[in-house]
Amino acid sequence: MSEEFPSKKDLADLIDGKLPWEKILEIIRMPIKDPDRMWKYLEVLQRKVPWDDKILLKISDKLYIVSKKDGGRIVKCECGYEFGDYRINWKFKSLVRVRKTKDEINEIYPDEILAPEEGWVEIREYICPNCATIHSVEAVAPKYPVVFEVLPHIDSLYREILKKPLPDESEDWNKDLSIDYLRSLLNSTR
Ligand code: ZN
Repeated sequence: MSEEFPSKKDLADLIDGKLPWEKILEIIRMPIKDPDRMWKYLEVLQRKVPWDDKILLKISDKLYIVSKKDGGRIVKCECGYEFGDYRINWKFKSLVRVRKTKDEINEIYPDEILAPEEGWVEIREYICPNCATIHSVEAVAPKYPVVFEVLPHIDSLYREILKKPLPDESEDWNKDLSIDYLRSLLNSTR
């Protein structure tokens, strides 16, 4: 029997950026993709993290949406830090470093000529309060609202694409609760 390709080891190497380019091309060019690829991928991810909350989706290099045993779905860092309900922009619970001045901006550009102009752009770095990983960087006009990068329709992914609906599926999961969260903060400081 020929060996399964890509194997879980191949997928793990792919995720870690260690898979040789030739093998990546082979995966891309497969005429029929392995139908259980997503499940293998999730299994590989789950083995890589030091906690056992069930990973529903990876949303950036070290950020995951996970299912908690108490019924919640939250954003969690690879280090274990929990950013709370995934329907609320996780950036509100992160540390933020804002680069506004010419010196602060130029610090991260190799050449000043490439850097955006002070006053027109600010660069926001969103950092995990526990492990200090920079999870996201925004370059936006000053005062531009915090960007909510992804609110995936997880139930549709599991029901319609993976054909295995989640036991706790509900229309409520598809709501953006970010504004409600900000309102509650505002009310609590009054
Ligand atoms: Zn972390």
